[in-house]
Amino acid sequence: MEYSGPTDLYIDGEWTPAKSGDTIETEDPATEIAYATVQKAGVDDVDNAVAAANDAAVRDSEWRTMDPEERRAKLHAMADAIEEWKDEIVLVESHDNGKTPFEAKLEIGMVVDTFRYYAGWTEKSGGSEIPVSDSRLNYTKREPVGVTAHIAPWNFPFQLAGRSVAPALATGNSVVLKPSSMTPLSALYYAKAAEEAGLPDGVLNVVPGSGSTAGSTLASHGDVDHVTFTGSTGVGKTVQRDAADAVADVSLELGGKGPAVVFPDADLDAAARGVQYGIFMNAGQMCWANSRLVVHEDVHDELVESLVSIAENIPLGSGIDDDGQMGPVVSESHQQDILAYIETGKEEGATVAAGGGVPDDTETGHFVEPTVFTDVTNDMTIAREEIFGPVLSIIEVSSEEEALKVANDSPFGLTACVWTNDLSRAHTFSDRLDYGMVLVNETPNTWPQTPFGGTGASGHGRAQGEQAIESYTEVKNVHINLE
Ligand code: NAD
Repeated sequence: MEYSGPTDLYIDGEWTPAKSGDTIETEDPATEIAYATVQKAGVDDVDNAVAAANDAAVRDSEWRTMDPEERRAKLHAMADAIEEWKDEIVLVESHDNGKTPFEAKLEIGMVVDTFRYYAGWTEKSGGSEIPVSDSRLNYTKREPVGVTAHIAPWNFPFQLAGRSVAPALATGNSVVLKPSSMTPLSALYYAKAAEEAGLPDGVLNVVPGSGSTAGSTLASHGDVDHVTFTGSTGVGKTVQRDAADAVADVSLELGGKGPAVVFPDADLDAAARGVQYGIFMNAGQMCWANSRLVVHEDVHDELVESLVSIAENIPLGSGIDDDGQMGPVVSESHQQDILAYIETGKEEGATVAAGGGVPDDTETGHFVEPTVFTDVTNDMTIAREEIFGPVLSIIEVSSEEEALKVANDSPFGLTACVWTNDLSRAHTFSDRLDYGMVLVNETPNTWPQTPFGGTGASGHGRAQGEQAIESYTEVKNVHINLE
C-alpha cells in the first residue's frame, strides 16, 4: 500500500519542504520495497524550527499564558485526532518499522493514553508554600523550561516521541521533535494532530533528519533549554556533551541489558510467557528487553525446554501480515549486526539452542530467527552488550546471591524482571537490584503514570509519570515580606 501521509517538515505552523533540498527514502523492512520519501531537515531547517519554538515559548506567548483548562482541551484534542487516525498510523508504523499490527496498535494506544494522562496535569502541576519567619510569604511555582528538543529512536518511533512531547506541551513548553531518519513518518502525525487541535504556531515543530546534522544541531543549539534524548548510550554521551555549551538540561533514556531472574518457586509457565514477550516482542528491539535470563539450576532445564519450543514456533510475518507474531528487524545493516553477535556468541562458547540465523522460509525482509543461547556466562559479549534483536542469553545460577551478582553485573540499569512466588524474596530481591525499574511476576510493562528510566549506562532522568513534569519545569521561589 502506498504512503499517503505527510512528508514535509512542520515548522511554525506550516508544512514546508527542506531548505537543504534533501530527502529521506524509507523502505519497508519486510518487503524491502521503497515506501515513502520525506523531506530531510538540514541545519537551516532546524534553526528555523528552534526560532519558531523560541517565539512560541516567550513569557507572554499565547501558549504559555493559555488557561490550563484550554491547554488541557488541546491535548485531549490531539489524543482524539490520533485515536481517529489510529488505523492509518498502525499501517504507517508497520511499513516504516516492520512491526506487526498488534505491536503497532499497542504503541498507538499508549500514545493516546499518554496525551490524556498529561492533559490532566495541565491544571495540577503547581508549587507549594514554605514556612519562613513571621510576616513573610514564601512559595514556589513551576514554570515551563521553554524550548524543548526531543530526539527519538526508531524502535517505538511514535510512542517514544509522544512520551516526552506530551508532558512538555502540558507544562507550557514548545517542542522541536526530530524522529529517527530510519522511521521518520509517524512523528509527522503529531504535527497533523497539533494542527487539528489548534495549537498556536511554533508550539510543535517536527524536523525529520539525520542524527549527525539535524540531531546534533538540535542538541547543541544555544536556544534549546532541555534535550530529551532516547537512543543508544554512545550517542547519548555525545548529546550530553553537545548540550553542555548551551547549559541545556538533558534527559537520557538509553540502552539496556535487562535480566529476567527466575527462582525455583516461580510459576514457570508464566515466566516462560513473560520472557517470550520480554525478548521476542518487537523482534527484541527494546531497550528494556529481557535479553539475559538468569535462572536457578533447579528449573533451568525445564525453562530452557519451554523457551526453545516457544522460539521455534513463533510465526514470523511482515508488518501487514496478521498471522505474523514477530516481524523483521528494522534494516539490513541492523540484521547483519545481530547476526554478527550470534556468531560471536558461538565463538565464545555459548550453545545455540534455538534459531541462530536467518529463517529460510522468508523470501524477503530483514528477518532474524528467534534465538536462544544456553551455556552463557556473564562475561561473554552476548551477555554484556545490547544486541537489540531477538536473541536470549540464558545464564544458569545456583543461589540467590549468585543470581543477584549476575543480574547487577552490567553497565546498564534499566529494567529487571523477577519471577518468584516468595513474597519476602520479591521485596528483598527487588530492593537489591540496581535498576531503574523492577517488575515482579510481570513481563516488561509500563503505563503513562509510572516513571520510566534507568541508572548507569541506561541514562538519567525519568520519562512518564509525575517525574516527567519535573523535567519540563523549573521551580521558581517567590519571597514576599508582608510587613
Ligand atoms: P541512536 O542513538 O542511533 O539514535 C537515536 C536518535 O539520535 C535518532 O533520532 C538519531 O538520528 C539521533 N542521533 C544520532 N546521532 C546523533 C548525534 N550525534 N546528535 C544528536 N542526535 C543523534 O539509537 P537508535 O538506534 O535509534 O535506537 C536504539 C537505541 O535506543 C538502543 O540502544 C535502545 O536501547 C535505545 N532506546 C532506549 C529507550 C529508553 O527508554 N531507555 C527506549 C528506546 C530505545
